[in-house]
Amino acid sequence: MDHIEELARALARFPGIGPRQGKRFVYYLLSAPADERKRLSELVTALGKDVRQCSECMRFYNGGNTATICNYCSDKTRDDSLLMLVEKDQDLSAVERAGTYKGRYFVLGGVLTLSGKGAIREKELFKIVEKKLKNNLKELVLALSATSEGEHTTDRIRELLAPYRDHLKLSELGRGLATGSELEYSDAETLRAALTNRKET
Ligand SMILES: [Zn+2]
Repeated sequence: MDHIEELARALARFPGIGPRQGKRFVYYLLSAPADERKRLSELVTALGKDVRQCSECMRFYNGGNTATICNYCSDKTRDDSLLMLVEKDQDLSAVERAGTYKGRYFVLGGVLTLSGKGAIREKELFKIVEKKLKNNLKELVLALSATSEGEHTTDRIRELLAPYRDHLKLSELGRGLATGSELEYSDAETLRAALTNRKET
């Protein structure tokens, strides 16, 4: 087996990384101290062992114990009347960094593309909405990126959740977010404004 080629191919499967960058990483690793390579491989292995996926919000978290839900979902001080839908874990982190939102979350795990590709966690979304509605849920905050895919996905979710509209308010982030911007890269100030200016949809 050609280890250089194999590892380069594995790295090229990462988002945003192509074959040439994959190869650059491999040569970097070859020139790095053995300790650094060892540490990296240990960290990758630990991801499968110590990181869990929350059964409620679906985010990945460090689960050192036997809990099946994460600290945001188990935190009794958070507001059960609000559920924010984000595309990915990194977006959730960006909202947490902004520091104003104190409700619950759900990570959709992707967006739907205009050509009909991509998948979101529809089944899990229904499950959590049903469950939370029994527990004081009042508003669903659609916090998707201000991209065409994000908007397309928002439309689809609005459609999916139409049967719940009598009991559930849907809102979208205010357009403090520039068109085309991804939540993950928005600064805290912009996110705070977008949250405060969210509007019913
Ligand atoms: Zn959770």
